[in-house]
Amino acid sequence: MRVAVLGGGVLGACAAYHLVRAGAEVVLLDRAHEGRATSAGAGIVSPWTTRYEGESLYRILLGGALAYPALVASLAEDGEHDLGYARVGTLCAPADPAVLDALEPLVRGRANEASIAGAVTRLTPREAKALWPPLAGDRAALHVEDGARVDGRRLSAALHRAIARRGGVLRNGLATLLVEGGRVRGVVLEGERIGADAVILAGGAWAPEVLAPLGIRMAVQPQRGQILHLRLEGRDTAHWPVLYPMTSHYLLTFEEGRVVVGATRESGAGFDYRATAGGLAEVLEAGLAIAPGLAHATIIETRIGFRPMPPDGRPLLGTVPRLPGLVIANGLGPSGLTASPFAGRIAAQLALGETPPISLAPYDPLRV
Ligand SMILES: Cc1cc2nc3c(=O)[nH]c(=O)nc-3n(C[C@H](O)[C@H](O)[C@H](O)COP(=O)(O)OP(=O)(O)OC[C@H]3O[C@@H](n4cnc5c(N)ncnc54)[C@H](O)[C@@H]3O)c2cc1C
Repeated sequence: MRVAVLGGGVLGACAAYHLVRAGAEVVLLDRAHEGRATSAGAGIVSPWTTRYEGESLYRILLGGALAYPALVASLAEDGEHDLGYARVGTLCAPADPAVLDALEPLVRGRANEASIAGAVTRLTPREAKALWPPLAGDRAALHVEDGARVDGRRLSAALHRAIARRGGVLRNGLATLLVEGGRVRGVVLEGERIGADAVILAGGAWAPEVLAPLGIRMAVQPQRGQILHLRLEGRDTAHWPVLYPMTSHYLLTFEEGRVVVGATRESGAGFDYRATAGGLAEVLEAGLAIAPGLAHATIIETRIGFRPMPPDGRPLLGTVPRLPGLVIANGLGPSGLTASPFAGRIAAQLALGETPPISLAPYDPLRV
């Protein structure tokens, strides 16, 4: 069985990795567009602390969070340890205690269902600040033991290396679908035909451009996210929990004093790959309101990514009856680093002709 995966972001890479481990022959094609979402993503993996509209999105995100420990273990077997993945916990610290009161039963209910969420504990402002020292001093919080974070760049690079080590072929360039006799027969990479029994289209926000020449409309739009990386000199931030103020902003940390402050959510900006004065001001203002202790941190990096946003929040995942041989995996929007280990495995299973573990009816990839 030969499968071509078009798109080497976290979703395509997870699908391709599952395929090589299942013994399939794999070609992974990636143009590495500026603004690849995976390269800008903050890295929060904590679905039980976020409100979602509808259970069908939550099911995919929970599946992703639960799949991480096995993915991390199998990458370790393949010699890949540098993923930036750590179960650091999550701290929900809204400015308004009433928001915390409303959130607590939801999070406790979900944590009970999800065997890896761990203990949920209500903290005083002083206890919360002990876990996240730059935090404002007046915020009570809810701590979820097993929230996690991951570095999208390091994870996808590790997946690419592991795929190659297991015999997968990685090719750089802009690919199109090869359609003959009413079915997808592979891809064309800058003029070169590459045959395959199935193609997984995981091209993120750019995927609609791959389908448009075939007269097929996929309702995915880019949403620009601008995000800042700071450094707290001399601080050991490797194990600080992910910090959610329960607004659209958030903070998380990695090793060596790196603090990530996110992020704008700009629909309608198209593929405009720019950091803007207004965007960065918004992110800094929100970050410092939550954590005034960051005022003296060093700004070390700005990242810009295009989230692949579906029309209604739900992922796009499934086959296309009018185009046999094609599997679509897309639309993970703001949560693709969380969802991809599960969504990528489902895409791989579809390409292999296997039955996925959940019904895909809510995720019809061509709904508008
Ligand atoms: C600022 C920001 C913060 C985020 N924070 C989080 C977070 O904390 N937690 C979380 O879970 N998620 C987060 N996300 C979301 C997450 O990053 C995305 O959902 C996820 O990375 C999408 O992965 P993808 O593989 O579908 O798309 P992408 O990563 O965009 O990859 C698509 C790839 O397909 C390639 N491609 C497209 N068309 C072609 C073609 N024709 N030929 C060859 N290659 C092609 C592109 O070059 C690209 O490399 C965040 C995103 C942003 C922007």
